[in-house]
Amino acid sequence: MTRTRIFPINKINFHDTLKEAAAIIDDGGLVAFPTETVYGLGANALDTKAVRGIFEAKGRPADNPLIVHICSKQQCCELARNIPEKAFKLMEKFWPGPLTLILERQEIVPDVTTGGLDTVALRMPDNEIALGIIRVSGKPLAAPSANLSGKPSPTTAQHVISDLCGRIDAVIDGGTAEIGLESTVIDMTLQVPAILRPGRISREDIEKEIGSITTGYLDGGHPDSAAVRSPGMKYTHYAPDATVILIEGASVNVARRIQEMLKTYESAGLKVGLLLTDESNMTIHQDDQLSLGSKDKPAELAFNLFSGLRSLDARGVDIILVDGSFSRHGIGEAVSNRIRKAARSIIKV
Ligand code: AMP
Ligand code: MG
Repeated sequence: MTRTRIFPINKINFHDTLKEAAAIIDDGGLVAFPTETVYGLGANALDTKAVRGIFEAKGRPADNPLIVHICSKQQCCELARNIPEKAFKLMEKFWPGPLTLILERQEIVPDVTTGGLDTVALRMPDNEIALGIIRVSGKPLAAPSANLSGKPSPTTAQHVISDLCGRIDAVIDGGTAEIGLESTVIDMTLQVPAILRPGRISREDIEKEIGSITTGYLDGGHPDSAAVRSPGMKYTHYAPDATVILIEGASVNVARRIQEMLKTYESAGLKVGLLLTDESNMTIHQDDQLSLGSKDKPAELAFNLFSGLRSLDARGVDIILVDGSFSRHGIGEAVSNRIRKAARSIIKV
């Protein structure tokens, strides 16, 4: 059992807190910190023992590689080689920001960080705390989401504490992560780059910069060719303790089906939680229901999704019914991807 220190960070203690965090990283320790996507669990990406600690603390399978967080293009060139022109264009446009590039790795990156692959995943986060820890420590940070493996990603320090207290050295509490979903991951080592995980930066955003790309992920959560390229995709993800059932279709039909299912499950003695859109939230009324936001504003749904799953779990529900009638536009595709992976079953109405 490790004593986990909690550092609330603010304008006054900002630099002192970064120094404390950097000192823990220098010592081979584990520090959770906010990024603009979700909270990350960071360790020196070049220190094999420290990175092993991340896998242990999260219970993460060893073949699921980590994203390395950097604060400069120079660091990028120290960690990756044969970087294609298109990758530089994407860095120029989207870094710092929620886009992870898969590139050929340099020898200096240890196997434990890349899950034994000859590629490395790199991202420059758009968050002053994350960038500050990387800059002050002078180390690239391997940092997966700071949750127990398989659970919904953490968007607050409280989520990190509830999963990892006693397992990591420190948590920097910098408030709620502003996007709420993990970065877009794109494999730049292929002739035609492929998105391996959708995020806020969409296929269209990327194609505007570098022309045609492909998507290499399946939405059902089952292994496919992308899972082979991106090992993390074959594992259970984002799943709360309750069983998640996703209902997809037009808004009115989804609301009607949720009401029918609610009656059936409740009469069987089950405690049911509902994750709704503002639209269905107007027509359904029971105790354990939350709205994630308007069905036409997927950024709101992204922001609230993981905390919604966690807070229904905390209420001890057996089943979570999710309203899947929202727009797949922009980040909506990533929201759909995460809920589909969390879901035990998907019903189309
Ligand atoms: P997480 O750190 O939990 O946000 O997950 C990182 C995701 O990036 C996982 O799905 C990994 O499998 C994927 N990933 C990391 N490094 C690589 C790599 N070198 N090649 C392909 N996918 C990667
Ligand atoms: Mg994760």
